[in-house]
Amino acid sequence: MSRLQAADAKTRIAPSDFYRAELPTMPAPRGGGWRDGGLCPFHGDKHPGSFRVHLGTGAFICFACGAKGSDIIAFVQMRDALSFPESLRKIGEEWGLA
Ligand SMILES: [Zn+2]
Repeated sequence: MSRLQAADAKTRIAPSDFYRAELPTMPAPRGGGWRDGGLCPFHGDKHPGSFRVHLGTGAFICFACGAKGSDIIAFVQMRDALSFPESLRKIGEEWGLA
């Protein structure tokens, strides 16, 4: 049984699917590129519009609180205060990849 690798997680989970599941306030995404991610999960966001996710790469950025990262692993790592391996393991378990 091999451990889930970061490259596997990134190729097997579409960022658009990931963020649709993880961001309940995100408007239905159309197309790729940077999209409105709804309310930012990294600060007490009450006004959608400052949090963006990239549906191609999984990158995210908040123009209000400054949270940013390059992929879905970094997103889980920051949101749940996990190490990189912990984040990867959690994504693997939740998405049935482990
Ligand atoms: Zn924020």
